[in-house]
Amino acid sequence: MNTEVGNLIYRGKAKDVYETDDPERVIIKFRDNITAGDGAKKENLKKKGFYNSIISTKFFKILEEAGVKTQYIELIKPGYMLSRKLKMIPLEIITRNIAAGSLLRNFPFEEKQEFKPPIIQMDYKNDEYHDPTLNDDIAVALGFVTREELKIIREITLKINSVLKDFLKSKGILFPDFKIEFGHDSQGNIVLGDEISPDSCRFWDSETWDVLDKDLFRKGESGVMEAYITVASRVLDDEDKKKWNLDI
Ligand code: UDP
Repeated sequence: MNTEVGNLIYRGKAKDVYETDDPERVIIKFRDNITAGDGAKKENLKKKGFYNSIISTKFFKILEEAGVKTQYIELIKPGYMLSRKLKMIPLEIITRNIAAGSLLRNFPFEEKQEFKPPIIQMDYKNDEYHDPTLNDDIAVALGFVTREELKIIREITLKINSVLKDFLKSKGILFPDFKIEFGHDSQGNIVLGDEISPDSCRFWDSETWDVLDKDLFRKGESGVMEAYITVASRVLDDEDKKKWNLDI
């Protein structure tokens, strides 16, 4: 197995991508940086990369078991995920089960309004244009995805939502919304990439509705890392905790 970290090929806001000696595999390094507001608000949260990588690993494994193709191959050690190399599609696919965040700022929904079926929203991932929401016609006209692929993306996204929503419910966590990204593998298949973590999802305690995600940082509240650790302690099983030496 190739676990040597090679050249840096991409640096994002919170993750780096490194080459390996296999051209079809990369290592994704989860960093401790946390950003909000288009990168305007920045901080370093000790061990955030560690926890986000193990939380993402858990979700990717559950999804693979449910038949969803993901980029994940193996967590070499916390923070370092061996992954299939993808050509990422610059779309942020946002799924909403409960109204929160920008949906409330932009539309007259009621706070905590439930959506059944869920709302799927697509934003163009582009800092220069500030990630505008787009529709299928614009996405296809931009040329990075076909109409058929958008249909596949929607189907996979709904499956991901139902698998994770049920899993989280069993752990006492509500799943108001989340953002995922897809890419093409070397055979042209649509594959789930990026991460699924408290940086990219809203997680609320089912009983108290306490926020357990990046919204705490966005709002300048304390206890951000504690919330991420709470998510890890609920979603990981004893075997995972033992493997990573976690006393949580
Ligand atoms: N999200 C993300 N990256 C972004 C924008 C949104 O991961 O660049 C996630 C966010 O964590 C939330 C969901 O997508 O779980 C919906 O976010 P929303 O549009 O409500 O934006 P926000 O209120 O976070 O600005």
